[in-house]
Amino acid sequence: MPKFARRMNSLGVEGAFIVLAKARELERKGRSIVHLEIGEPGYQPPRHVLEATKRAIDEGKTKYTPASGIYELREAIAERVSASRGVDVKPDNVVVTVGAKMAIFAALMAFIDPGDEVIIPMPAYPSYESVTRFLGGVVRPVILKEERKFSPDVSDILEKVSDRTKAIVINTPSNPTGGIYRREDLEEIVKLAQRKDILIISDEIYEDIIFDGRKHESVLSIAGAEEVTVLVSGFSKTWAMTGYRLGYAVAKEEVAQRIAQIQLNAASCPVHFAQVAAIEAIRGPQEEVAQMIRDYERKRDVIYEEIRKTEGFSMIKPAGTFYAFPNIKETGMSSEELADKLLNEAGVALLPGTAFGNPGEGFLRISFAGPMRDIVEGMRRIREFMANL
Ligand code: PLP
Repeated sequence: MPKFARRMNSLGVEGAFIVLAKARELERKGRSIVHLEIGEPGYQPPRHVLEATKRAIDEGKTKYTPASGIYELREAIAERVSASRGVDVKPDNVVVTVGAKMAIFAALMAFIDPGDEVIIPMPAYPSYESVTRFLGGVVRPVILKEERKFSPDVSDILEKVSDRTKAIVINTPSNPTGGIYRREDLEEIVKLAQRKDILIISDEIYEDIIFDGRKHESVLSIAGAEEVTVLVSGFSKTWAMTGYRLGYAVAKEEVAQRIAQIQLNAASCPVHFAQVAAIEAIRGPQEEVAQMIRDYERKRDVIYEEIRKTEGFSMIKPAGTFYAFPNIKETGMSSEELADKLLNEAGVALLPGTAFGNPGEGFLRISFAGPMRDIVEGMRRIREFMANL
């Protein structure tokens, strides 16, 4: 067999999938494992979305669509993004993508040449680093600090800017930290991007999963940001539609066209009936979504209290997402070591902070996207294990 392309050496594997594989192996041997590693809503999509999916299949929405997605969905997304950000987004600014992941991949692919630098506030969703390196880009990490509630310090970002800086990838609400970026920090990032001609890729896939009555602050709502930003969001989290593989990018028309062109070459288009169902997700009733978010908030409160009672753990309350990101430095163990112990000895699968880059050292990521009983049982096991260490 011929050698793999050199770029394959730079492509990452997501920690969640590695831990899941280890957990499944233990389960095959008869062990009971509580799954708190997966970032996937433990809910079905809203009932009316499921009904719309079935109807769409019966009506023959089973074909290729334009590479950028069907017009009616792009229109629905444009209206939603315009209303929530107070900007004027047109359907031609929107590309429907095969998951938000494709939007991130295509945006980086469209802009990053070998040697270009990408600033990434970290710990961060692993795709950003993996894809950047895959393209020959250089990652310039900026450490998100707990004392700033994981909103980036713009002076740290400034230190990383060079002549080769091409993009900055931001993510608010943030996986894995559960933090949200402060508006002032976003404004500084926009100013910097405008001044230095840097692209902002803003992953806002958790935009609706925000607690304590807060409102999502989007970079797009800052004047002039639309000139320098690719907004990424999607249907996987808000509507629990992970398996539909539907996300979107919103950008200047010429950028949107490039993203669609990449998608055309990689996948042709997103799934037709999934797109029809997504129109219903946006335009239909939102009660089930609101209920899911209330549930996440209750789970967040439970996990926060449990973590406070756990030996060696401390945590600031997640402001959004469905991830808890406790600081475990007091245990004296590395993230990897403790995550392994908790899996093998306590029967709880979760992720070491380092699955989100080296700046995640000293933390664990615990997902509360699943059922409450798993959260309660998983935290009981963790608490007992830590108390007996
Ligand atoms: N961005 C972030 C921050 C995520 O956490 C995820 C999924 O976990 C994605 C993007 C990918 O979303 P999708 O499933 O729509 O590709």
